[in-house]
Amino acid sequence: MSFENLLIVGAGFSANAGLPLASAFTSALVNTEKLPLDGPSNALVRFVSGFVDTTFAEGRTAEPDDWPELEDVFTLVDLSANSGHHLGKYSASDLRLVRRAMLVRMIRMLSQSYSRRHRRPDAAWELLEQLFAGFDETSTAVLSMNWDTVIETGVARSQGLERVDYGCDARFAEFTEKGSLRERSRASRRVVSLTKPHGSVNWLYCDSCRDVFWVSPSSTSKVADVLFRKHDWDSVRRITGLKQSYTTRSPKCPHCGVEALGTRFATFSFRKALDFPVHAASWRTAETHLKESINWVFFGYSMPSADFEFKYLLKRVQLAERTRPRITVITGGGGAEETIKRFERFFGDVTDERFYFRHGLTSEVLDHLEEIGVIRAS
Ligand SMILES: [Zn+2]
Repeated sequence: MSFENLLIVGAGFSANAGLPLASAFTSALVNTEKLPLDGPSNALVRFVSGFVDTTFAEGRTAEPDDWPELEDVFTLVDLSANSGHHLGKYSASDLRLVRRAMLVRMIRMLSQSYSRRHRRPDAAWELLEQLFAGFDETSTAVLSMNWDTVIETGVARSQGLERVDYGCDARFAEFTEKGSLRERSRASRRVVSLTKPHGSVNWLYCDSCRDVFWVSPSSTSKVADVLFRKHDWDSVRRITGLKQSYTTRSPKCPHCGVEALGTRFATFSFRKALDFPVHAASWRTAETHLKESINWVFFGYSMPSADFEFKYLLKRVQLAERTRPRITVITGGGGAEETIKRFERFFGDVTDERFYFRHGLTSEVLDHLEEIGVIRAS
Protein backbone atom coordinates (compact mmCIF):
# COMPACT_ATOMS: atom_id res chain seq x y z
CA MET A 1 0.00 0.00 0.00
CA SER A 2 1.41 3.39 -0.87
CA PHE A 3 0.50 6.70 0.70
CA GLU A 4 0.27 10.21 -0.74
CA ASN A 5 1.10 11.88 2.53
CA LEU A 6 3.53 11.22 5.32
CA LEU A 7 2.79 12.95 8.61
CA ILE A 8 6.00 13.19 10.63
CA VAL A 9 5.37 14.08 14.26
CA GLY A 10 7.59 15.08 17.16
CA ALA A 11 7.09 16.19 20.76
CA GLY A 12 5.34 19.40 19.64
CA PHE A 13 2.50 17.32 18.20
CA SER A 14 1.88 15.44 21.44
CA ALA A 15 2.04 18.71 23.38
CA ASN A 16 -1.50 19.31 22.06
CA ALA A 17 -2.54 16.30 24.14
CA GLY A 18 -0.88 17.65 27.30
CA LEU A 19 2.47 15.87 26.99
CA PRO A 20 5.64 17.79 27.85
CA LEU A 21 7.97 19.25 25.24
CA ALA A 22 11.62 18.18 25.33
CA SER A 23 12.47 21.30 27.35
CA ALA A 24 9.92 20.42 30.06
CA PHE A 25 10.60 16.69 30.06
CA THR A 26 12.87 16.65 33.11
CA SER A 27 10.50 18.60 35.34
CA ALA A 28 7.60 16.38 34.24
CA LEU A 29 9.69 13.30 34.93
CA VAL A 30 10.62 14.43 38.43
CA ASN A 31 7.24 15.94 39.30
CA THR A 32 5.29 13.48 41.45
CA GLU A 33 3.12 16.10 43.16
CA LYS A 34 -0.22 14.48 42.45
CA LEU A 35 0.99 10.90 42.80
CA PRO A 36 0.83 8.71 45.93
CA LEU A 37 3.91 9.13 48.13
CA ASP A 38 4.42 5.39 48.49
CA GLY A 39 3.72 4.63 44.79
CA PRO A 40 6.23 3.23 42.29
CA SER A 41 6.69 6.57 40.47
CA ASN A 42 7.87 8.25 43.66
CA ALA A 43 10.31 5.42 44.38
CA LEU A 44 11.70 5.55 40.83
CA VAL A 45 12.12 9.32 40.98
CA ARG A 46 13.96 9.08 44.30
CA PHE A 47 16.29 6.45 42.87
CA VAL A 48 17.05 8.35 39.64
CA SER A 49 17.42 11.69 41.47
CA GLY A 50 19.95 10.03 43.78
CA PHE A 51 21.95 9.02 40.73
CA VAL A 52 21.85 12.53 39.25
CA ASP A 53 22.79 14.15 42.60
CA THR A 54 25.77 11.82 43.05
CA THR A 55 26.98 11.82 39.46
CA PHE A 56 26.33 15.35 38.28
CA ALA A 57 25.78 17.59 41.33
CA GLU A 58 28.65 16.43 43.54
CA GLY A 59 26.21 15.11 46.11
CA ARG A 60 24.03 18.23 46.37
CA THR A 61 20.31 17.99 45.66
CA ALA A 62 19.74 19.01 42.06
CA GLU A 63 16.36 20.69 41.39
CA PRO A 64 14.79 19.83 37.98
CA ASP A 65 16.15 23.15 36.66
CA ASP A 66 19.68 22.12 37.64
CA TRP A 67 19.56 18.72 35.96
CA PRO A 68 21.94 18.22 33.06
CA GLU A 69 20.37 17.74 29.61
CA LEU A 70 18.64 14.35 29.35
CA GLU A 71 20.79 13.70 26.27
CA ASP A 72 23.86 14.02 28.50
CA VAL A 73 22.47 11.72 31.18
CA PHE A 74 21.45 9.00 28.72
CA THR A 75 24.57 9.28 26.57
CA LEU A 76 26.94 8.90 29.54
CA VAL A 77 24.89 6.06 31.01
CA ASP A 78 24.87 4.29 27.62
CA LEU A 79 28.59 4.80 26.95
CA SER A 80 29.54 3.49 30.37
CA ALA A 81 27.02 0.65 30.71
CA ASN A 82 27.47 -0.65 27.17
CA SER A 83 31.24 -0.89 27.55
CA GLY A 84 30.96 -2.51 30.99
CA HIS A 85 32.37 0.40 32.99
CA HIS A 86 31.52 2.19 36.22
CA LEU A 87 30.44 5.80 36.25
CA GLY A 88 31.70 6.87 39.67
CA LYS A 89 30.28 4.44 42.21
CA TYR A 90 27.58 3.13 39.85
CA SER A 91 28.56 -0.15 38.19
CA ALA A 92 27.56 -1.07 34.63
CA SER A 93 24.64 -3.09 35.94
CA ASP A 94 23.57 -0.26 38.31
CA LEU A 95 23.67 2.06 35.27
CA ARG A 96 21.45 -0.27 33.26
CA LEU A 97 19.08 -0.19 36.21
CA VAL A 98 19.17 3.63 36.16
CA ARG A 99 18.32 3.56 32.46
CA ARG A 100 15.41 1.17 33.00
CA ALA A 101 14.15 3.22 35.95
CA MET A 102 14.17 6.39 33.80
CA LEU A 103 12.34 4.63 30.97
CA VAL A 104 9.69 3.18 33.25
CA ARG A 105 9.16 6.54 34.93
CA MET A 106 8.92 8.10 31.44
CA ILE A 107 6.26 5.60 30.38
CA ARG A 108 4.22 6.34 33.50
CA MET A 109 4.71 10.10 33.21
CA LEU A 110 3.53 10.15 29.57
CA SER A 111 0.33 8.31 30.37
CA GLN A 112 -0.28 10.36 33.54
CA SER A 113 0.11 13.64 31.59
CA TYR A 114 -2.22 12.37 28.88
CA SER A 115 -4.97 11.30 31.30
CA ARG A 116 -4.77 14.61 33.12
CA ARG A 117 -5.41 16.55 29.89
CA HIS A 118 -8.07 14.08 28.77
CA ARG A 119 -10.01 14.88 31.94
CA ARG A 120 -9.59 18.63 31.42
CA PRO A 121 -9.40 19.22 27.67
CA ASP A 122 -8.41 22.65 26.38
CA ALA A 123 -8.71 24.36 22.97
CA ALA A 124 -5.63 22.56 21.55
CA TRP A 125 -7.03 19.19 22.61
CA GLU A 126 -10.31 19.94 20.78
CA LEU A 127 -8.47 20.84 17.56
CA LEU A 128 -6.44 17.65 17.83
CA GLU A 129 -9.69 15.71 18.19
CA GLN A 130 -10.88 17.27 14.92
CA LEU A 131 -7.70 16.11 13.25
CA PHE A 132 -8.21 12.55 14.54
CA ALA A 133 -11.90 12.52 13.61
CA GLY A 134 -11.09 13.41 10.01
CA PHE A 135 -7.81 11.54 9.67
CA ASP A 136 -7.68 9.56 6.42
CA GLU A 137 -5.68 6.40 7.03
CA THR A 138 -5.92 5.41 3.35
CA SER A 139 -4.04 8.47 2.08
CA THR A 140 -1.71 9.18 4.98
CA ALA A 141 0.91 7.21 6.88
CA VAL A 142 2.36 8.50 10.12
CA LEU A 143 5.96 8.52 11.25
CA SER A 144 6.22 9.31 14.95
CA MET A 145 9.52 10.18 16.58
CA ASN A 146 7.76 9.95 19.97
CA TRP A 147 7.27 6.93 22.21
CA ASP A 148 3.80 7.95 23.34
CA THR A 149 0.50 6.56 22.05
CA VAL A 150 -1.32 9.85 21.39
CA ILE A 151 -2.06 8.86 17.76
CA GLU A 152 -3.20 5.29 18.46
CA THR A 153 -5.45 6.43 21.29
CA GLY A 154 -6.81 9.37 19.28
CA VAL A 155 -7.86 7.50 16.12
CA ALA A 156 -9.23 4.60 18.20
CA ARG A 157 -11.39 6.96 20.26
CA SER A 158 -12.70 9.09 17.39
CA GLN A 159 -13.00 6.54 14.57
CA GLY A 160 -12.82 3.15 16.25
CA LEU A 161 -9.64 2.62 14.24
CA GLU A 162 -7.83 0.15 16.49
CA ARG A 163 -5.62 -1.84 14.17
CA VAL A 164 -2.12 -0.49 13.80
CA ASP A 165 0.57 -1.50 11.35
CA TYR A 166 3.81 -0.43 13.04
CA GLY A 167 5.89 -1.39 10.03
CA CYS A 168 8.21 -3.59 12.12
CA ASP A 169 6.18 -6.84 12.17
CA ALA A 170 4.96 -6.14 15.69
CA ARG A 171 2.03 -8.40 16.57
CA PHE A 172 -0.97 -7.56 18.68
CA ALA A 173 -1.17 -9.22 22.11
CA GLU A 174 -3.24 -8.86 25.24
CA PHE A 175 -2.61 -9.43 28.93
CA THR A 176 -4.95 -12.11 30.25
CA GLU A 177 -6.57 -11.87 33.67
CA LYS A 178 -3.96 -14.25 35.01
CA GLY A 179 -1.24 -11.90 33.82
CA SER A 180 0.11 -13.85 30.89
CA LEU A 181 0.43 -12.39 27.40
CA ARG A 182 -1.60 -13.84 24.49
CA GLU A 183 -1.36 -13.10 20.83
CA ARG A 184 -4.69 -11.94 19.35
CA SER A 185 -5.87 -10.92 15.93
CA ARG A 186 -7.77 -7.70 15.37
CA ALA A 187 -10.82 -8.15 13.21
CA SER A 188 -11.17 -4.68 11.73
CA ARG A 189 -10.29 -4.22 8.08
CA ARG A 190 -9.19 -0.63 8.52
CA VAL A 191 -5.65 -0.16 9.68
CA VAL A 192 -3.52 2.87 10.43
CA SER A 193 0.08 2.81 9.28
CA LEU A 194 2.26 4.22 12.05
CA THR A 195 6.04 3.84 12.08
CA LYS A 196 7.95 4.56 15.28
CA PRO A 197 11.70 4.43 14.65
CA HIS A 198 12.47 5.22 18.31
CA GLY A 199 10.21 2.53 19.76
CA SER A 200 6.92 2.80 21.61
CA VAL A 201 5.69 2.58 25.20
CA ASN A 202 3.20 -0.16 24.30
CA TRP A 203 5.73 -2.55 22.72
CA LEU A 204 7.43 -5.56 24.26
CA TYR A 205 10.50 -7.01 22.63
CA CYS A 206 11.59 -10.61 23.23
CA ASP A 207 15.30 -10.88 23.94
CA SER A 208 15.13 -14.57 23.12
CA CYS A 209 13.30 -14.92 19.78
CA ARG A 210 13.42 -11.17 18.88
CA ASP A 211 9.71 -10.93 18.11
CA VAL A 212 7.90 -7.70 18.92
CA PHE A 213 4.43 -7.51 20.44
CA TRP A 214 2.21 -4.51 20.92
CA VAL A 215 -0.59 -4.09 23.42
CA SER A 216 -3.51 -1.72 23.52
CA PRO A 217 -2.38 1.72 24.76
CA SER A 218 -4.61 1.31 27.83
CA SER A 219 -2.32 -1.55 28.97
CA THR A 220 0.80 0.60 28.94
CA SER A 221 1.17 0.60 32.73
CA LYS A 222 1.30 -3.22 32.58
CA VAL A 223 4.21 -2.92 30.15
CA ALA A 224 5.92 -0.69 32.75
CA ASP A 225 5.41 -3.47 35.33
CA VAL A 226 7.08 -5.96 32.97
CA LEU A 227 10.10 -3.75 32.34
CA PHE A 228 11.01 -3.30 35.99
CA ARG A 229 11.37 -6.73 37.52
CA LYS A 230 11.46 -8.02 41.04
CA HIS A 231 15.26 -8.15 41.11
CA ASP A 232 15.32 -4.54 39.84
CA TRP A 233 13.29 -3.46 42.86
CA ASP A 234 15.62 -5.54 45.04
CA SER A 235 18.57 -3.57 43.68
CA VAL A 236 16.75 -0.26 44.15
CA ARG A 237 16.07 -1.29 47.75
CA ARG A 238 19.76 -2.14 48.24
CA ILE A 239 20.92 1.20 46.82
CA THR A 240 18.31 3.52 48.37
CA GLY A 241 17.25 1.72 51.53
CA LEU A 242 13.65 1.71 50.23
CA LYS A 243 11.29 -0.66 52.13
CA GLN A 244 8.13 -0.79 49.98
CA SER A 245 7.34 -3.57 47.45
CA TYR A 246 5.68 -3.02 44.10
CA THR A 247 3.76 -5.02 41.51
CA THR A 248 5.82 -6.71 38.84
CA ARG A 249 4.78 -8.95 35.96
CA SER A 250 6.87 -11.50 34.14
CA PRO A 251 4.75 -12.97 31.34
CA LYS A 252 6.31 -15.49 28.99
CA CYS A 253 6.88 -14.54 25.37
CA PRO A 254 3.76 -15.65 23.40
CA HIS A 255 6.01 -17.02 20.67
CA CYS A 256 8.96 -18.80 22.29
CA GLY A 257 7.72 -19.14 25.87
CA VAL A 258 10.83 -17.65 27.47
CA GLU A 259 10.53 -14.98 30.18
CA ALA A 260 12.61 -12.50 28.24
CA LEU A 261 10.25 -9.65 27.36
CA GLY A 262 11.76 -6.21 27.63
CA THR A 263 11.98 -3.07 25.61
CA ARG A 264 14.14 -1.42 23.02
CA PHE A 265 13.89 2.34 23.12
CA ALA A 266 16.06 4.70 21.22
CA THR A 267 16.44 7.20 24.07
CA PHE A 268 17.50 10.81 24.25
CA SER A 269 21.04 9.89 23.46
CA PHE A 270 23.60 10.54 20.78
CA ARG A 271 24.25 6.83 20.72
CA LYS A 272 20.75 5.67 19.94
CA ALA A 273 20.35 1.91 19.99
CA LEU A 274 19.10 1.68 16.43
CA ASP A 275 20.74 -1.52 15.35
CA PHE A 276 18.16 -3.94 16.81
CA PRO A 277 16.03 -5.84 14.30
CA VAL A 278 12.86 -4.05 15.39
CA HIS A 279 14.38 -0.63 14.68
CA ALA A 280 16.01 -1.75 11.43
CA ALA A 281 12.58 -2.85 10.15
CA SER A 282 10.99 0.46 11.21
CA TRP A 283 13.69 2.44 9.44
CA ARG A 284 13.16 0.49 6.23
CA THR A 285 9.41 1.14 6.37
CA ALA A 286 10.04 4.82 7.09
CA GLU A 287 12.29 5.03 4.04
CA THR A 288 9.63 3.41 1.82
CA HIS A 289 6.98 5.87 3.01
CA LEU A 290 9.32 8.81 2.50
CA LYS A 291 10.04 7.71 -1.05
CA GLU A 292 6.42 7.15 -2.01
CA SER A 293 4.74 10.19 -0.51
CA ILE A 294 4.18 13.51 -2.25
CA ASN A 295 3.70 15.56 0.90
CA TRP A 296 5.99 15.45 3.90
CA VAL A 297 4.14 17.09 6.76
CA PHE A 298 6.33 17.89 9.77
CA PHE A 299 4.26 18.58 12.85
CA GLY A 300 5.93 19.65 16.09
CA TYR A 301 9.26 18.23 15.04
CA SER A 302 12.26 20.54 15.28
CA MET A 303 14.96 18.25 13.78
CA PRO A 304 17.18 18.09 16.89
CA SER A 305 20.91 17.46 16.42
CA ALA A 306 20.68 14.08 18.18
CA ASP A 307 18.51 12.83 15.27
CA PHE A 308 21.35 13.09 12.77
CA GLU A 309 20.66 9.62 11.34
CA PHE A 310 17.07 10.51 10.59
CA LYS A 311 18.14 13.82 9.02
CA TYR A 312 20.55 11.91 6.82
CA LEU A 313 17.69 9.65 5.72
CA LEU A 314 15.50 12.68 4.90
CA LYS A 315 18.20 14.32 2.85
CA ARG A 316 19.13 11.14 1.05
CA VAL A 317 15.54 10.44 -0.03
CA GLN A 318 14.86 14.08 -0.95
CA LEU A 319 17.84 14.14 -3.30
CA ALA A 320 17.16 10.72 -4.80
CA GLU A 321 13.55 11.38 -5.87
CA ARG A 322 13.04 12.94 -9.26
CA THR A 323 9.76 14.44 -8.04
CA ARG A 324 10.82 16.19 -4.89
CA PRO A 325 8.49 16.03 -1.89
CA ARG A 326 6.40 19.09 -1.03
CA ILE A 327 7.06 20.16 2.52
CA THR A 328 4.70 21.41 5.20
CA VAL A 329 6.04 22.54 8.56
CA ILE A 330 3.70 23.06 11.51
CA THR A 331 5.46 24.55 14.49
CA GLY A 332 4.76 26.96 17.32
CA GLY A 333 5.97 28.59 20.52
CA GLY A 334 8.88 30.95 21.01
CA GLY A 335 11.24 28.99 18.78
CA ALA A 336 8.90 28.85 15.75
CA GLU A 337 10.88 31.23 13.52
CA GLU A 338 14.13 29.48 14.31
CA THR A 339 12.58 26.09 13.49
CA ILE A 340 11.25 27.33 10.14
CA LYS A 341 14.67 28.78 9.31
CA ARG A 342 16.23 25.39 10.11
CA PHE A 343 13.85 23.64 7.68
CA GLU A 344 14.48 26.26 4.97
CA ARG A 345 18.20 25.83 5.33
CA PHE A 346 17.96 22.05 5.30
CA PHE A 347 15.50 21.45 2.45
CA GLY A 348 15.80 24.66 0.44
CA ASP A 349 13.03 27.20 0.02
CA VAL A 350 11.13 26.25 -3.15
CA THR A 351 8.31 28.55 -4.34
CA ASP A 352 4.82 26.98 -4.07
CA GLU A 353 6.20 23.77 -2.55
CA ARG A 354 6.66 24.93 1.03
CA PHE A 355 3.91 25.56 3.57
CA TYR A 356 4.86 27.03 6.94
CA PHE A 357 2.56 27.37 9.95
CA ARG A 358 4.02 29.06 12.99
CA HIS A 359 1.17 29.16 15.54
CA GLY A 360 0.78 25.48 16.36
CA LEU A 361 -2.45 23.63 15.59
CA THR A 362 -5.05 26.12 14.29
CA SER A 363 -8.13 25.88 12.08
CA GLU A 364 -5.95 27.23 9.25
CA VAL A 365 -3.70 24.17 9.71
CA LEU A 366 -6.73 21.84 9.65
CA ASP A 367 -7.86 23.48 6.37
CA HIS A 368 -4.45 22.88 4.83
CA LEU A 369 -4.41 19.25 6.00
CA GLU A 370 -7.85 18.81 4.43
CA GLU A 371 -6.62 20.37 1.18
CA ILE A 372 -3.72 17.93 0.85
CA GLY A 373 -5.83 14.97 1.95
CA VAL A 374 -4.48 14.15 5.41
CA ILE A 375 -8.01 14.86 6.64
CA ARG A 376 -11.11 13.73 4.72
CA ALA A 377 -13.09 16.51 3.05
CA SER A 378 -15.93 17.56 5.36
ZN1 LIG B 1 10.26 -14.96 22.34
